[in-house]
Amino acid sequence: MPESPADLTKTYDAVVVGSGAAGGMASHVLTSHGMKVLLLEAGKKLPIENELRSMEWPYDNPYRGELPPDRHSLTFNEYTIRRPPYGPGFEKSKHLHSYIGDSDYVKNIVVDERENPFTGTNYAWVRARCLGGKTNIWGRLSLRLSDYDFKAKDRDGFGENWPISYSDIAPYYDKVDLYLGITGVKENLPHLPDSIFQRPTKLNCAEVTLRDGLRKMGRVLTQYRAGVTTDGLKHNKYRSRCYGRGACERKGGCDIHAAFDSPTGLIYPAMDTGNLTLRTNAVVREVVVDPQTGKASGVHFIDSETKKDYTVKAKVVIVAASTLESARLLLLSKSRLYPNGLANSSGHVGHNFCEHVMGPGVAGRAKNLVGKPPTLDDGRPGGFYLPRFRNLAEKNPNFIRGYGFEGGSGSVMFPHGTDVHGFGASFKEEVRKNQGAYIGMGAFGEVLARYENYVDLDPVVKDKWGIPSLRFHYKFGDNEHKMAADMKETAQEMFEAAGFEIINVHDRVLTEGWSIHELGTARMGSDPKTSVLNQFQQSHDVKNLFVVDGSAFVNASCQNPTWTIMSLCWRSCDYLADQFGKGNL
Ligand SMILES: Cc1cc2nc3c(=O)[nH]c(=O)nc-3n(C[C@H](O)[C@H](O)[C@H](O)COP(=O)(O)OP(=O)(O)OC[C@H]3O[C@@H](n4cnc5c(N)ncnc54)[C@H](O)[C@@H]3O)c2cc1C
Ligand code: SF4
Repeated sequence: MPESPADLTKTYDAVVVGSGAAGGMASHVLTSHGMKVLLLEAGKKLPIENELRSMEWPYDNPYRGELPPDRHSLTFNEYTIRRPPYGPGFEKSKHLHSYIGDSDYVKNIVVDERENPFTGTNYAWVRARCLGGKTNIWGRLSLRLSDYDFKAKDRDGFGENWPISYSDIAPYYDKVDLYLGITGVKENLPHLPDSIFQRPTKLNCAEVTLRDGLRKMGRVLTQYRAGVTTDGLKHNKYRSRCYGRGACERKGGCDIHAAFDSPTGLIYPAMDTGNLTLRTNAVVREVVVDPQTGKASGVHFIDSETKKDYTVKAKVVIVAASTLESARLLLLSKSRLYPNGLANSSGHVGHNFCEHVMGPGVAGRAKNLVGKPPTLDDGRPGGFYLPRFRNLAEKNPNFIRGYGFEGGSGSVMFPHGTDVHGFGASFKEEVRKNQGAYIGMGAFGEVLARYENYVDLDPVVKDKWGIPSLRFHYKFGDNEHKMAADMKETAQEMFEAAGFEIINVHDRVLTEGWSIHELGTARMGSDPKTSVLNQFQQSHDVKNLFVVDGSAFVNASCQNPTWTIMSLCWRSCDYLADQFGKGNL
């Protein structure tokens, strides 16, 4: 898809900052309403199929898929021992990546930590600076939120309710399902509403055993609800239907784009309307404000390669740089009118930062499958999901909110979790015998949105482009630790109920940030004193400024956020286009 050059002399109807799930969706919706949109992306447009190489066999890769020796990706222990910025101490490595950058297939997609430093408390901050952002490598689990999440305060008194209900967003979840494609099975759960699913993937033998065991406990196990088109999408020529290679399971990414990614799912179709101009390598450093009107008038950006500074004008500014980068950009956009940063009269920008806590889980073996012939179990874009079961009908005495488990079983390319030792022929024999019997799952739990968990700008440290870095003030609290203890116990209890031999029970809590589901730094609300955005992700302070990514979330729930980010964004951009047409912005 060729880029047409951005015309910096004209005033665009809208400028969108960031090309991930949120920026892609904003570009799609606004251009479909006929608005002339400029999309600015800080990273490069990578030859993504060459990066992902979904058809490459491990033995065809010089490092068997691992990183080349001049690169290093941070480990759990390093996150624990070192303090940000994660640069000093790793001088031997030419490039340093977050924990997710540990494969040859993602090395150019995730950022170099040295070029993009941050400070403060420990945080495993995964960033993908390229066209499409993190959607190029995301895990595809696509879940809806429900009124158990939107109205959580009504149930337990903590935090704030969202200014919307499920009924407000449900039609937009439907639109996202139909436009992008999602696979799964209907379960009729009030706390995990169903999508409009395409053909489901199949559970394998051990997963069915677990599902049947859980039924007796009143718990549900369902097929992985993946943002993947299994039936194809007639309206999108850039995407093919899934043919079950399982390469996306390797480290995300699908080179035929059956798995949703923002460029092929949203941006290229938007460019086909003739209404979208894309400029990559454009690092936005400030939203510009008209001192007369107080409205946003455009943005300043730096060309990431030449380091030249540019300004572009627009009638509406849409920030979609991802939860933490969007908060950073608002805080960077200080002016005489807005000395605390843009859209920040409430003082809530950067605060109420929340996500999912991870770590506890279980690994086991279905003994009846040991020694059975191998089956094709990883030829699918995901295993299973076990939805939340805590604090629904009952009230847990130790913690509020809930958690779900992601998991999978069976034969995979690199056998794991088989817990066998030795070497030579007998070792290989043991691995072969056990690998198809493996089953494992790990939990994702809601981290409460608390004002005291926040980010601000570091007064000293700057990134490669001279832009002040973020500083983290963020820690899991008591509720998260108590929930994590429960995750470990219930994981074990469920595997025992299914009759699995337990190999490992994990109880360690992973570093903050590990879930890559950062949310809530510019939350929505009805009260401008305690929230940054209204229900349409429009700034309370600056009416032609919208922030359409996960920063708008009021709480994290325990469901993965991307489908909700895109559904909210679609709703907000419909409203934006309507208001724009009426001359109200
Ligand atoms: C390995 C992995 C697994 C995941 N699994 C799941 C999952 O199973 N389910 C789920 O729901 N979510 C998952 N996620 C999270 C999901 O990818 C994000 O929720 C989603 O991508 C967020 O979209 P976004 O547009 O807010 O941010 P991004 O996708 O990160 O896009 C933001 C874009 O903005 C650009 N940008 C940033 N700053 C600037 C600036 N100053 N100027 C210009 N551009 C800028 C970035 O370069 C980037 O391209 C996963 C993520 C990863 C990495
Ligand atoms: S399983 Fe489907 S979505 Fe995953 S890499 Fe293969 S074709 Fe793509």
